[in-house]
Amino acid sequence: RASVGPKYLSGLNPEQREAVETLDGPVLVLAGAGTGKTRVLTTRIAHILSQGRARPGEILSVTFTNKAAREMKHRLGQMLGHAVEGMPWLGTFHSIGGRILRTHAELAQLKSNFTVLDVDDQVRLLKQLLQAENIDDKRWPARMLAGLIDGWKNRGLMPSQVPSGEAAMFANGKGGKLYASYQERLKILNAADFGDLLLENIRIFREHPDILRQYQQRFKYILVDEYQDTNVAQYLWLRLLSQAPAATKAVIPGRLEEPNHDVQEHVGESGDESTDRDSGFDAAHRPGMTVAAAAPTKNICCVGDDDQSIYGWRGAEVDNILRFEHDFPGAKVIRLERNYRSTGHILAAASHLIAHNEGRLGKTLRTEDQDGEKVTVTGSWDSEEEARGIGEEIEQLQRIGEKLNEIAILVRASYQMREFEDRFVTLGLPYRVIGGPRFYERAEIRDALAYLRVINSPADDLAFERIVNTPKRGLGDATVQMLHDHARKRRIPLFEAARAVVETDELKPKARGSLRDLVAQFDRWRAQREVTAHTDLAQIVLDESGYTEMWQKDRSADAAGRLENLKELVRSMEEFENLQGFLEHIALVMDRDGEAEEDAVSLMTLHSAKGLEFDNVFLPGWEEGLFPSQRTLDEQGRAGLEEERRLGHVGLTRARRRAKIYFATNRRIHGTWSTTIPSRFLDELPAANVEITESKGGSAWGGTGGYGASRFDDMEAFGSSYSTPGWQRAQANRNRGQGGRSGGGRGGFEEEASSFSSSPDFGSFSSR
Ligand code: ATP
Ligand code: MG
Repeated sequence: RASVGPKYLSGLNPEQREAVETLDGPVLVLAGAGTGKTRVLTTRIAHILSQGRARPGEILSVTFTNKAAREMKHRLGQMLGHAVEGMPWLGTFHSIGGRILRTHAELAQLKSNFTVLDVDDQVRLLKQLLQAENIDDKRWPARMLAGLIDGWKNRGLMPSQVPSGEAAMFANGKGGKLYASYQERLKILNAADFGDLLLENIRIFREHPDILRQYQQRFKYILVDEYQDTNVAQYLWLRLLSQAPAATKAVIPGRLEEPNHDVQEHVGESGDESTDRDSGFDAAHRPGMTVAAAAPTKNICCVGDDDQSIYGWRGAEVDNILRFEHDFPGAKVIRLERNYRSTGHILAAASHLIAHNEGRLGKTLRTEDQDGEKVTVTGSWDSEEEARGIGEEIEQLQRIGEKLNEIAILVRASYQMREFEDRFVTLGLPYRVIGGPRFYERAEIRDALAYLRVINSPADDLAFERIVNTPKRGLGDATVQMLHDHARKRRIPLFEAARAVVETDELKPKARGSLRDLVAQFDRWRAQREVTAHTDLAQIVLDESGYTEMWQKDRSADAAGRLENLKELVRSMEEFENLQGFLEHIALVMDRDGEAEEDAVSLMTLHSAKGLEFDNVFLPGWEEGLFPSQRTLDEQGRAGLEEERRLGHVGLTRARRRAKIYFATNRRIHGTWSTTIPSRFLDELPAANVEITESKGGSAWGGTGGYGASRFDDMEAFGSSYSTPGWQRAQANRNRGQGGRSGGGRGGFEEEASSFSSSPDFGSFSSR
């Protein structure tokens, strides 16, 4: 029995087995999608435990989402044949960092029951600070500052370390000072934001070597999944815990001349050498300097894939993985080349696509699986037809016995989901949205719907209360309380109470005036309803109420995405005869709340699909300006575009047996219909592995060789008959948006993904 080894090892190939069994010293598994990296990590933990190398509490294991952590625990139980007790240090960076911070809260001037703020709390707090400093929130929005602070924290920068050049980006150089007072406020409130969870760990480790040593000794083994998407703070945190020797000038073959995220760089940018960076830790991270600590390097095992680095826009540094050997001298680097997930055609298509990127290590991937079905590419007339076509394909898959659980739709931008959700509700097809709220549950959509509901039914108190002071019109809690009292006494709806109250002098003149205006507005909209198309009415309501403007003025990262969602909402109304019909449909969609579907189609963004796999994967919206996103097309240089391509690669490699790409010839982006151009990524797929199919949903598309059909014919040769280079096409495509996203900051696409991907990661905190 001993010679065969434990059962959990038996299915592994030799390289995987080596990665599992090399328990001493640093190990990097650098390998492509579906090669078993996550499986190796899980098996490695099983091996450590069953060999008695460490107890569950001595293994630090970092996953990208809480869901992935649960999954890993589950698998571990299966491998060992018994439920795993404990594993308190298996989780996301944030959950583990938060746990450590609670233990030493007093060292960060917090109490152990500190609250973790969400983004909205964060922004509210920053607004107060701006007010106190007499800084115009319109010119310098709190959300922008929140984004900057987040960025600094992702890079491990304390207030004193923010390069003055960057601090100058906000309120004429006050950025750094505001960051400092924000941190002070947090302490007073006994609160931390997500960035603090790691940053305060780093500070504590730096200032209290004894505590650091305690953790270094506790964690006999460190394991990290998705290492390509770690940011600088996470990297610094890992290095401290793993006792890595100091950084020296790193040279990564063909890639970097020197590490690009050492503190040194920030010093250089600011030209301010005198900022507080006297601690040994920072010094250790200056190129060319060494630190005294020289304990042997920890047993750290990181796994990742440079071709799947998709969070660069959020501060992740793919270079972390490329410099692993440098950071952990003597590291064993293991490459896995056999893909166990996908069929031949899918793997070939994915590999061919990613080969168009320049900045990559390059690797071979093979499968011993059969070729399977070719990747299909289907054009449709517009996004509605796309949704209909995919709906039909899913029903067809169901008929041949496929489980809905094994079907996923991966979109580039979250607003794309709306069309699918509507279609699935109509079809009665169970679905779940992973990693974020469903379209109609988003805050901005609920706000907009609330306006429409009050128009439709003045007695809808919940809706009225939701929007009475959104956007802000000086009708705060006190006013609402008064309306409630009034309504209760007279047994009338809030709206009627409002109508009555403005005739009295119970409210202060200002509040009274603005409530009177609101009541008058609703009366006017109700009258207009009789003579105006419901879609136009919705637009009018959003504009006249100031709601659109509220988001336009909001220069925060996610405002653009919200405006896009609002446009999408108005568009979705077109499919209904009138407001009443539309609202009934919504009620139906919303009614699914809390329904736990056993077998359901998964709907999510490409970003949140990382690490997952499904038998059947649908990839809609492969069009220039959507995927790749407009922002990356507008950008100088190819970094953004390459990240988009990696995202496409991630999407394709989620599929085990079927990958189905769709593009539409017409799509409404920023509220305007435009003719779209198929994504350049389609040109980059290998013709031999791809089959072009007819849309099954379609009327407008088929038959007569209209515009769409001829465009489709052009596609057939994939690139060769496409004489226009991608860049020119992008150029032509560029000017069509209506500026829903104004310049500066990032576009709406990523931010959607951001709120998505972060939610599973951060989710567990609310319960603490
Ligand atoms: P990604 O880069 O997408 O995260 P990964 O490298 O982490 O992929 P896994 O998810 O660990 O890959 O494995 C992909 C699939 O292949 C899983 O279903 C896994 O169970 C299976 N697999 C991995 N190794 C083997 C093996 N040796 N024998 C059989 N199946 C395997
Ligand atoms: Mg994985």
